[in-house]
Amino acid sequence: MARFLLLLVLFSVIARIFWSFLEGVVRGASGPATQGGSRGGTPASVKMQQCPACGTYVVPGKAISSVRSGSPIYFDSEKCRAEYESR
Ligand SMILES: [Zn+2]
Repeated sequence: MARFLLLLVLFSVIARIFWSFLEGVVRGASGPATQGGSRGGTPASVKMQQCPACGTYVVPGKAISSVRSGSPIYFDSEKCRAEYESR
C-alpha cells in the first residue's frame, strides 16, 4: 500500500512537471507573436522633441541631449548640436 501511494505521488509530480513544460512551450510559441502584433515601434507615450538646428523630430531616449539654462535640448545628431552651440 505504501508503495502504491508513493507511485501515485510520483506520477502526479511527473504529470505536473510535464504540464508546466507543455504550457511553457505553448506560451513560448504564441507569446512573441501576440506581443509583436500589438506593439509597433516606439510607444505613443514618448513625447517627440524637435531639434533646434534643423527641425527634425527626435525621440529623447535616442537623441543627443544638451542642458542649456536648466532645461534639456535634444538634437538628432552630433553635427546639429555643434551647429547649435556655435551660434
Ligand atoms: Zn538636427
